[in-house]
Amino acid sequence: MSHLSATIIVLAPLRLYLMYSHDVNCTHPYCSDLATYKVAARWSDGRFAELKTYGFACSDHLGEVFQEAENRRLDYTLCPGEVTEEMAIYRFEPGKRDRQLKRLWDLEENYRT
Ligand SMILES: [Zn+2]
Repeated sequence: MSHLSATIIVLAPLRLYLMYSHDVNCTHPYCSDLATYKVAARWSDGRFAELKTYGFACSDHLGEVFQEAENRRLDYTLCPGEVTEEMAIYRFEPGKRDRQLKRLWDLEENYRT
């Protein structure tokens, strides 16, 4: 028990630091690695467009996170006027804006079904 509370004391400031520096963890439920990829699709309602984020992945789980994101996109029923583009993979760099992220077309081809 005393061992557990010691761990929490050590981890708490680290987590605050991670949040502050905009680092993001892999979306995979059993993974706590830092994300190096962002899985997202362009979305628009005809007037307004944005990059809709579906998940973040480390290199080990990119395939699973991408597939799960694509399934969620296909399950979603669009309202009239709404459009989503194909799922895309970006190299995730903390603190960078969406438009500055590099899209990784080659990787997408590997995971697209
Ligand atoms: Zn992972």
